[in-house]
Amino acid sequence: MNNYIPERAMFIFAHPDDIEFSVAGTAAKWASHGCENTYVVITDGNVGSHEPGMTREQIGQIRRQEQAAAAKVAGAANCIFLGFDDGSLEPTLTLRKKLVKLIRKHKPNAVVCGDPNMFFRGERLNHPDHRAAGRAALDAVFPASEMRLLYPEFEAEGITPHKVNFVYVVTDENLNHYEDVSESLDTKWLALKAHKSQIGDKDYSDRLRDRAATIGKQVGLAYAEAFRRFTVTPLPQQNGEKSA
Ligand SMILES: [Zn+2]
Repeated sequence: MNNYIPERAMFIFAHPDDIEFSVAGTAAKWASHGCENTYVVITDGNVGSHEPGMTREQIGQIRRQEQAAAAKVAGAANCIFLGFDDGSLEPTLTLRKKLVKLIRKHKPNAVVCGDPNMFFRGERLNHPDHRAAGRAALDAVFPASEMRLLYPEFEAEGITPHKVNFVYVVTDENLNHYEDVSESLDTKWLALKAHKSQIGDKDYSDRLRDRAATIGKQVGLAYAEAFRRFTVTPLPQQNGEKSA
């Protein structure tokens, strides 16, 4: 099961660059083994600039382009922007409904998201948008996506209820699943590099490598990304499962 590669996965995160900083190693690895990855980026990151004269519209557009480029580098099949404002994200029912629609449409086996309870990451404070995105994602997965009588109006568009198999939560606590990202760590850095407006010319490759090595060491892997993984709906035997 440790080598499980989903057929379809959805990565739901708050900002352009969240996926690249955290889970792009897993995303790139899965994609290279045939997984159809859909990125869902909830906000445009449109307050993410300290540059004088930069407007929200301009930076939002730049960041969409950077995210689309990063998704392409990591082999994602789709990169969807929900266009919410950066810095004021809430896990509302409006957002949940949009995510349920996307989950039902793309039918991921795996959903990857952040931890809604994570206020601190080591010595740093976590961004409130990250918590909001994590909560919205989890609440959309279960049970909303699978309940036929919830949002029945989607069926008119041919979008039917869907059961997600696994949720991979990016967190620091209760880790129970490690993805070996040795083969995709270079791609992770190339994808992160696409976010020029955020990282400039800084070289984060060592930082990504050190972090993946620290995580990997816990389980005897050279480089890894760590998750708290939940089984929502067990996979049918021999169905929807490929090994790496
Ligand atoms: Zn972020």
